[in-house]
Amino acid sequence: MYTVAQLIGGVWGAGGDDGEFVVHDPSDGSRVSTAPIATADEVGKAVAAAREVTAQWAATAPAERAAALHRAADAVAEAADELARATTAEMGKPLADARGGVEAGIGTLRQYAELAAARGGRTLHGDPAALDFMAPEPRGVVAVITPWNDPVAVACGLLGAALVTGNVVLHKPSERTPATGWLLARAFDTALPAGVLSLLTGGPQTGAALAAAEVDVVAHVGSTATGRAIAAAAAAGGAKVLLENGGSDPLIVDADVDPVWAAGQAAQGAFANAGQICVAVERIYAHRDVAEDFVDALVERAAALRVGPGRDPDTELGPLVDRRHRDQVHGQVTAAAADGARIRVGGTLPEGPGAFYPATVVDNCRHDLTLVREETFGPVAPVVVVDSFSEALRCAADSPYGLAATVLTGSMSHAQRAWRELPVGTVKVNAVFGGAPAGAAHPRRGSGQGFGYGPELLDEFTAMKVVHIEAPGGGHW
Ligand code: NAD
Repeated sequence: MYTVAQLIGGVWGAGGDDGEFVVHDPSDGSRVSTAPIATADEVGKAVAAAREVTAQWAATAPAERAAALHRAADAVAEAADELARATTAEMGKPLADARGGVEAGIGTLRQYAELAAARGGRTLHGDPAALDFMAPEPRGVVAVITPWNDPVAVACGLLGAALVTGNVVLHKPSERTPATGWLLARAFDTALPAGVLSLLTGGPQTGAALAAAEVDVVAHVGSTATGRAIAAAAAAGGAKVLLENGGSDPLIVDADVDPVWAAGQAAQGAFANAGQICVAVERIYAHRDVAEDFVDALVERAAALRVGPGRDPDTELGPLVDRRHRDQVHGQVTAAAADGARIRVGGTLPEGPGAFYPATVVDNCRHDLTLVREETFGPVAPVVVVDSFSEALRCAADSPYGLAATVLTGSMSHAQRAWRELPVGTVKVNAVFGGAPAGAAHPRRGSGQGFGYGPELLDEFTAMKVVHIEAPGGGHW
């Protein structure tokens, strides 16, 4: 059982006047953590305290900030086992996945430490008697508001990039994973000057207070609805907003691919982390020539997954994050079935404790079903049969989201059409996951705005200043 404390203005245990909340293990309902709820007043005080140390941290040499980030990465590595266990206990994912998320977070911290130390501005070539250059500067106070589905990897990217570029950061982790956020803040705190990182805990109200506070940047990773509320709140105070939000990623199965291999790809994309990945496969457009064999193989894969608590080493499919979320997932599946779709496997609420939901394959789907158009964020694979690659591309492009898409095809010209025609940030051909390190894309439409990853995230947290220096009276120095 974790007892989470807030870190405000360099003081552990501050605030929490709005009481506390409890997090339960989604595999068995047992209590995992309690955490304070930060009031709007406490958020205001935390922002004011953060503002006081901005000048000092901004004036710290970039190499020194980079060294601090390396030390933070060391501390996260030391706490890796406990961070992974806390993640699994709080949100349910298999322990090996949780450990993978921690390792990814450590890698990102090290990458930002190296990149930031090597960054500079630009020298400009104007009047030879003058000095003209561009210098990047920190933006000031950054609010980082994160989700629960990959809590360490997502937070490390934003915290690392914001801190190493000289910003002072207030982090609010998800109310479903406060102990994970607390363990992470404790690790960072050993490496940073007091006050440079604060930790605020609480739910949507605490997040809303932070988004409306006098901060310079609000970086949010989470649902599209929340991202839009944050953008509206931040507009009043003029903060820059960075949004990495929901998706409804399509998978296109072309006529010329092996349907059994394609089913393996689809299963990985739709069922990993119980479908709770922003770039999970959310809807499948399968060519009629291969659709039947593809769906049969996908049903087989879904039925074979080993279900259990994330802490069991054999588990391939853990529970959903909580029962409220499970109700939403199940509601979408049953609504689709009532509207003519056919549940081929799964689709039932299991008996017993926890928030388990079976891997579910639904065929006979139409493109206009909510299950197909909306983000389900569960282990559900809805299949729409299409008659041509052009129809698949048209359906895939017709979405309120624009995060990522995968195309399985043996045709180079189809691959080329796909990356050119799909209005999404990331296109993958013949692999649902993967890609070179440091890739960064702009999400489109409801999926967000700005770079949330890669070296470009360092630019997002930096304001460029252009400087022109002349000797007085038009003379020389
Ligand atoms: P969420 O938006 O509900 O919560 C995320 C964070 O926002 C939490 O800390 C929460 O307390 C806070 N929040 C909620 N309401 C708020 C408000 N009105 N004002 C300010 N803050 C508020 O999202 P979630 O359920 O935690 O996460 C799942 C979502 O995150 C999915 O939609 C998923 O696709 C998305 N996601 C996107 C990416 C990406 O990179 N695009 C990565 C991971 C998750």
